[in-house]
Amino acid sequence: MEIIHNFINGQSIPPANDQYLENVEPAIGEIYGKIPRSTEQDIQLAVEAAKAAFPAWASTDIGVRADILSKIADLIDQKRSQLAQAESRDNGKPVKLATLVDIPRASSNFRFFSRAITQWSGSSYFMRGQESLQSFTIHQPLGVVGCISPWNLPLYLFTWKIAPALATGNTVVAKPSEITPYTAYMLGEICNEAGLPPVVLNIVPGLGHEAGQAIVEHPEVKAISFTGGTKTGSIIAGLAAPKFKKLSLELGGKNPNVIFADCDYDKMLKTTVLSSFANQGQICLCGSRILIERSIYNKFKSDFVAKVNSRKVGDPKIDENHLGAVVSAAHQQKILDYIALAEEEGGRILTGGHAIHPKGRCAKGYFVAPTVIEGLDNNCRTNQEEIFGPVVTLQPFDSEEEALALANGTAYGLASTSWTQD
Ligand code: NAD
Repeated sequence: MEIIHNFINGQSIPPANDQYLENVEPAIGEIYGKIPRSTEQDIQLAVEAAKAAFPAWASTDIGVRADILSKIADLIDQKRSQLAQAESRDNGKPVKLATLVDIPRASSNFRFFSRAITQWSGSSYFMRGQESLQSFTIHQPLGVVGCISPWNLPLYLFTWKIAPALATGNTVVAKPSEITPYTAYMLGEICNEAGLPPVVLNIVPGLGHEAGQAIVEHPEVKAISFTGGTKTGSIIAGLAAPKFKKLSLELGGKNPNVIFADCDYDKMLKTTVLSSFANQGQICLCGSRILIERSIYNKFKSDFVAKVNSRKVGDPKIDENHLGAVVSAAHQQKILDYIALAEEEGGRILTGGHAIHPKGRCAKGYFVAPTVIEGLDNNCRTNQEEIFGPVVTLQPFDSEEEALALANGTAYGLASTSWTQD
């Protein structure tokens, strides 16, 4: 059983209350480790440490900060294989996907901000008619920044928050998702190896309403960068707004993929299979409502279903598998419940619609067949609520106006795709 601790002051520190959460490997459905169930006390310790470290880090020469961040990026690249395997073990995603996408993007986050910080500029403006008066902007670090990330792209989104905060001279208290904490723990070790001064980055795993909320509510945390569900974002906004904290929220989606008859059909088909089911549909940008011009609806439906049927689902360690496990038993159940709801709402399942139990090591893992559903109204719950799994719906449209109305007809506005030559 692997036990990880909090990373505070550059050291591995057990949680104050000695409580732990189980860490499950979704592809095999077994517990492989324990992680801290941190509380307010641990957050207090981490924030105090980060606050004490702030003046020195904020006044560290930009070139030195840039060099350290660049070294972190190099080390992530060097450890790409171990990080990808750890991420797949936590998350269920194919190791190949983590190796080719998630981990390289995590190192890119550090490398990008290590360079950007050396090019930062302000701006200044003379007041018209009074050239002796000038307004100007300067960029200054805020202090302690709280970074809270989700489970779907664990290291990539964690570093997307931490890298800019550190580059610009802030110190950080960060909480990875309690479901996928291991690569965050590895990042702590990498930061030590890269020479990041201890205390500048503190990593505190735990539950959202306990450790996460304690970060958001702490008066010394000046800004929150959060990625996750819209409901959670609303709770965080409600807590942070009265304290006038700076807030960055990246939330959920119900993304339309609008396909017009004049599109480059082969390119569209290939990409739509990928953009619907990459990472088991657990990417905030995955298209989940596919809207197709009626004249090509039937052709698209049969070609798409045939391609989806050729997707292999199974052990994420096997490179030939396109889809791995979904992230947890609870999430698998949520997806299956939505599929049952879609049927109740009058949807026809064209393929998928069930759990999968691969043979061998993954027999007890949490797998769901890629699922395509048609016949649903745009206003039904299946088409309005984020499922965040390998489930897409198909809807035909007759005109550009109708396509736009369907595409925009949800409360979400995160991302959209359109396929047309015009
Ligand atoms: P989630 O909202 O349940 O959790 C996200 C993080 O917030 C976790 O670390 C969790 O512990 C923490 N948290 C939960 N309650 C909290 C609270 N009260 N106070 C502070 N922190 C709290 O989301 P999830 O299930 O981990 O991730 C999936 C969601 O993330 C989906 O909705 C997806 O669309 C969204 N997402 C959005 C983007 C984007 O860029 N827009 C990217 C990836 C994922």
